[in-house]
Amino acid sequence: MSKRNEKKKVKKMKPEDLIERTLVLLKPDAVQRSLIGELISRFEKVGLKIVAMKMVWITPDFSKKHYSAHVNKPFYKSLEAFITAGPVVAMAIEGISAVEVVRKIVGSTEPKTAPAGTIRGDYAHHSYHFTDMKGIAIRNIIHASGTPEEAKQEIKLWFKENEIHSYKTVHDQFVL
Ligand code: ATP
Ligand code: MG
Repeated sequence: MSKRNEKKKVKKMKPEDLIERTLVLLKPDAVQRSLIGELISRFEKVGLKIVAMKMVWITPDFSKKHYSAHVNKPFYKSLEAFITAGPVVAMAIEGISAVEVVRKIVGSTEPKTAPAGTIRGDYAHHSYHFTDMKGIAIRNIIHASGTPEEAKQEIKLWFKENEIHSYKTVHDQFVL
């Protein structure tokens, strides 16, 4: 696309077009460490809106659907064992550029190198070196969709339409 057309496209966008939904899972390590409340409050404090939420103990089949991009990777077996080891808390979270903002709050995949201040940097310290030697998946507390497309697919997999709610928060009044 030419620069001029790109500008035209940007001009046509409405502010509401920037509002996205993303899927967050508090993984079994977070649930078993009683971190649910603390982690949810991180998202609430920045003004993101929880529009759907439930606790689910997923099956190996469901894991293969959720992590379909990883099924053929060497670490998949250990990832499946990890994500099915106990219930997870699933949430759809809404906000301005929510996919990117939530990934920023979550931090990078390996807790050892995830910056302090991010969830993975603050609540875990597992390293690839250690998990490779043990043959286990990296315990990193939380999942967040990587792209807006991934978010749409994942929310569809985890939630029915009537489980996702539209409502107003004070942030809608003061921020939007
Ligand atoms: P998630 O999709 O869970 O939010 P991510 O997008 O940061 O994590 P992915 O590359 O999608 O990272 O990997 C999915 C999950 O698989 C990771 O969160 C981690 O639990 C596990 N994992 C990924 N790579 C490895 C690895 N090399 N060794 C062990 N576990 C891994
Ligand atoms: Mg991922």
